[in-house]
Amino acid sequence: MKDVRTDGQPKRVFIRTYGCQMNVYDSDRMADVLRPLGYALAEAPDQADLVVLNTCHIREHASEKVYSELGRLRDLKTERRAEGRDYTIAVAGCVAQAEGEEILRRQPAVDIVVGPQAYHRLPELLAQVARKSAAAGPGKLMPGAGVLDTEFPPESKFDHLPSPQGIRAGSAFLSIQEGCDKFCTFCVVPYTRGMEYSRPVSAVLAEARQLVAAGALELTVLGQNVNAYHGEGPDGSTWSLSRLVRAIGEIPGLARLRYTTSHPRDMDDDLIAAHGDVPQLMPYLHLPVQSGSNRILDAMNRGHDRDLYLRIVERLRNARDDLALSSDFIVGFPGESDADFDETMRLIQQVGFASAYAFRYSRRPGTPGAALTDQVPENVKVARLAALQALVGQQARAFNESKAGSTVPVLFAEPGRKAGQIMGKTPWLQSVYAQGDPRLFGRIVDVRLIEGYANSLLGEIVTGDYEVAA
Ligand code: SAM
Ligand code: SF4
Repeated sequence: MKDVRTDGQPKRVFIRTYGCQMNVYDSDRMADVLRPLGYALAEAPDQADLVVLNTCHIREHASEKVYSELGRLRDLKTERRAEGRDYTIAVAGCVAQAEGEEILRRQPAVDIVVGPQAYHRLPELLAQVARKSAAAGPGKLMPGAGVLDTEFPPESKFDHLPSPQGIRAGSAFLSIQEGCDKFCTFCVVPYTRGMEYSRPVSAVLAEARQLVAAGALELTVLGQNVNAYHGEGPDGSTWSLSRLVRAIGEIPGLARLRYTTSHPRDMDDDLIAAHGDVPQLMPYLHLPVQSGSNRILDAMNRGHDRDLYLRIVERLRNARDDLALSSDFIVGFPGESDADFDETMRLIQQVGFASAYAFRYSRRPGTPGAALTDQVPENVKVARLAALQALVGQQARAFNESKAGSTVPVLFAEPGRKAGQIMGKTPWLQSVYAQGDPRLFGRIVDVRLIEGYANSLLGEIVTGDYEVAA
């Protein structure tokens, strides 16, 4: 049954996504599950009847942002109630999973708290709220009547979610693996996303073919530990990520393939070899190392040392010499000394990254790292973060500058910053701005790169070898 408003207009949902690409994928799937109920997408919370905050719990400030947004939504809800209308607020994602009922206590205006494994149950949760609202009268549902589903249900949400609908400008995400069994001592993911789960090969390949048929030229397969993928194959055998990547690479029409996020421990020989063998696999890999100090890597329970990481990098570059790397770094993990931090800076110099994400260590309740006594003072973390970012910033600029003068295929995706400009991505995931027609969104076009900057490049579309459909 479709949900319509009392004024006969279709209901609208606004979904705000925080955090990682897996949340982006999940938000799209939630939109897909709500569409058959009659929910169209709203552009802003004040145009919506239902707001879903798809949250991230990875660092402290990420969850605090959610609570301040909930305060604003409560005010909107109060306005709607004054007009005798309902306004439903749902909190999804990892904050929902981690804090559960605490969210309903801290912000009683919230109607639904739903964990990442229960999105297929959203229609039932909405129906529960609607039943309560019908009993109370329009706009009269009292704060504190919220419903909660943070179970890890026995069924997989993937088997119960509708097939993906929209492709954004030629590119799509495809979740193939979720959860994590590695228990790095700083990280909440094993607690919020649960144990490692790999989708069966047939389901992944079917979704990949469907996305390509719907116009995806580029697929990014996703997982919290994507290279720990061990899905059941059609013949009952277990497939690794490399086997899956090789099979996806054979889908006619697919030009680009990426996977993220990988763990160094799971970079096996065949996956490294695939970087040389599978032309669709893009020459860019996000391979987080977190720290360059063996002592800290050990305390983080990463299960690898700096030498293993450096060896993997060398072998990847032997397999594909134009491979660019990016990484995540945490500065100020408990006990990190100046010497440990210097080791991280030395590793960055040795590898040479095309980009990197760096974070100050954030103490997450319930993780082993939070209980350690030798926490690093905040001012030290700030100084280390600045030094690290300056170094990777220099490397990123040098990498972008090194591409100037070459002609590369760019997948255009969205308007640029200046009038008449469009923006797209190179095989190395660099942002390129060029004068061009928005009808090129979702197309791969050769671009001559003119100049490289800290975070992007300026390019010029090579004319003559593409047509824009009228
Ligand atoms: N599974 C991936 C891996 O093993 O590298 C990373 C997943 S996590 C969602 C993304 C990044 O957030 C991590 O690589 C780490 O750098 C950062 N992160 C996780 N927990 C953190 C914490 N407590 N404080 C600061 N950064 C954190
Ligand atoms: Fe978190 Fe470590 Fe698992 Fe990555 S491997 S999700 S950092 S516990």
